[in-house]
Amino acid sequence: MRIDLHTHSTASDGTDTPAELVVNAAAAGLDVVAITDHDTTAGWAPAVEALPAGLTLVRGMEMSCIGLGEDGYPVSVHLLAYLFDPTDRSFADERERLRAERVDRLRAMAQRMAADGLPIDPEAVLASAGPSAGRPHLARALVAAGVVSSVDAAFTDLLAARGRYYVEKADTPLRRAVSMIAEAGGVSVLAHTKARKRGRLLAESDIRELAELGLGGLEIAHPDHSAPDREALAGLAAELGLLRTGSSDYHGANKTIELGEFTTDPAQFEELVGKATGVPVVVS
Ligand SMILES: [Zn+2]
Ligand SMILES: [Zn+2]
Repeated sequence: MRIDLHTHSTASDGTDTPAELVVNAAAAGLDVVAITDHDTTAGWAPAVEALPAGLTLVRGMEMSCIGLGEDGYPVSVHLLAYLFDPTDRSFADERERLRAERVDRLRAMAQRMAADGLPIDPEAVLASAGPSAGRPHLARALVAAGVVSSVDAAFTDLLAARGRYYVEKADTPLRRAVSMIAEAGGVSVLAHTKARKRGRLLAESDIRELAELGLGGLEIAHPDHSAPDREALAGLAAELGLLRTGSSDYHGANKTIELGEFTTDPAQFEELVGKATGVPVVVS
């Protein structure tokens, strides 16, 4: 059983449409794939529609949250949410707020660039962005306009958190996100908590506290985790009674990672499915 529990489609910042994603997952030899776009469930229906025979689909999402950093300051954290009920009112309202927040923030960053004379059209960037507008869309516009040579270059310079065009976004507090997902019958898993190259890390005390509040698991195997980090996280998960997952965090052509490059142990997957009461996995 090959199980990849973290992938992105064009519903957020991936390059495969949701339909292409499931077809490519089957072609890559996966038995189970989760679709986990940023702050949106827009890819769920087209992925179900196109699901190839023999492939199991886990409907999920990757939520942008705010936690406590190792240094005591707030830090941006990604939380995976699996198999939650999309019609749960308070969670649906929060997703709607996040989507509006993403659009407003991207528009504000693009407007600052345009005001500075950069060849960026804020409304054109938003039109290209779809349901989960994010900095990658602005990065691609900057590459297309010849302002920077690559998406990575845009992120280390013009779009960086300490850069002059950066605008904060009001993400969901981690504790609130964990309880909202649980109330919607879903299972929450902290994504890539040791991805050092992405910036500052979440405090371990926060992880311990979240485990008490209903956190379901930790993503252990991930392209941005070193072998010692994976080992340390697996030890923490075992100590706190949390599930251990593994995933590629596939983004299509936006990154070099392939589907199924990291995977989840079948027994851990069975346990995750057993904990969820929101929506079932889909088998065609
Ligand atoms: Zn992430
Ligand atoms: Zn991701």
